[in-house]
Amino acid sequence: MAQDVPGRVSDAVVAARGVRRVFGSDVVLDGIDLTLHSGEIVALVGRSGSGKSTLLRTVAGLDRGHEGRIDVDGSVAVAFQEPRLLPWKRVHRNVSLGLPDGDGKRRAIEALGEVNLGHRVDAWPLTLSGGEAQRVSLARALVREPDLLLLDEPFGALDALTRITAYELLIRLWRRHGFAVLLVTHDVEEAVLLADRVLVLDDGRIAHDVAVTAPRPRQRADPGVVALRTQV
Ligand code: ADP
Ligand code: MG
Repeated sequence: MAQDVPGRVSDAVVAARGVRRVFGSDVVLDGIDLTLHSGEIVALVGRSGSGKSTLLRTVAGLDRGHEGRIDVDGSVAVAFQEPRLLPWKRVHRNVSLGLPDGDGKRRAIEALGEVNLGHRVDAWPLTLSGGEAQRVSLARALVREPDLLLLDEPFGALDALTRITAYELLIRLWRRHGFAVLLVTHDVEEAVLLADRVLVLDDGRIAHDVAVTAPRPRQRADPGVVALRTQV
């Protein structure tokens, strides 16, 4: 709800109304209304198979089989649980893929620096750890200077400690760049930790839309996991 996010200056990056998606006889999305405001972090939770990824892909424009209306205002970038890097291209080339020639490499290196991978720009993807590969995926999203970052279970494959550093990184980038985030996760704890608002997808609909009021890492000077981070 608009009034639940303090300090908001402007408006919807995404406005979806009556979105319906059917696969065969299976109604996966059954009238979704969704508004994401600029700069807010919204988590979308729900059981496996509830349609989270379908909704995310629909908002991203990667799935075009829906009925209903979706307005997206601004540029969008997506990152998935699997980083999906091209193994035959060096890390910086994976990041700059699809960007105009010219300053693509410089921008890729800058984005890789932001995700603490300045030392890995020339590496091959297969030599990366899972956490590094996920950060490359984040850099690939960042380099597109998104107004909206769509994340589909981005931390799901990471071990617990790596995941904590990834939370910190996401929040740091969010603070610096101010993009809105739609975070798909099945981890309710993660949703509450990171998001302003948690949406629960059930039976094809947004069953709950809950403002998070507990202190979150973003509201402190730094995430409260700095101590843990030194052990990673
Ligand atoms: P979640 O991400 O919440 O686990 P998904 O959005 O991946 O759920 O899937 C929701 C439902 O839609 C599942 O029943 C899945 O099998 C079905 N589904 C997703 N994509 C397709 C597709 N391309 N073709 C047919 N069925 C699909
Ligand atoms: Mg999914």
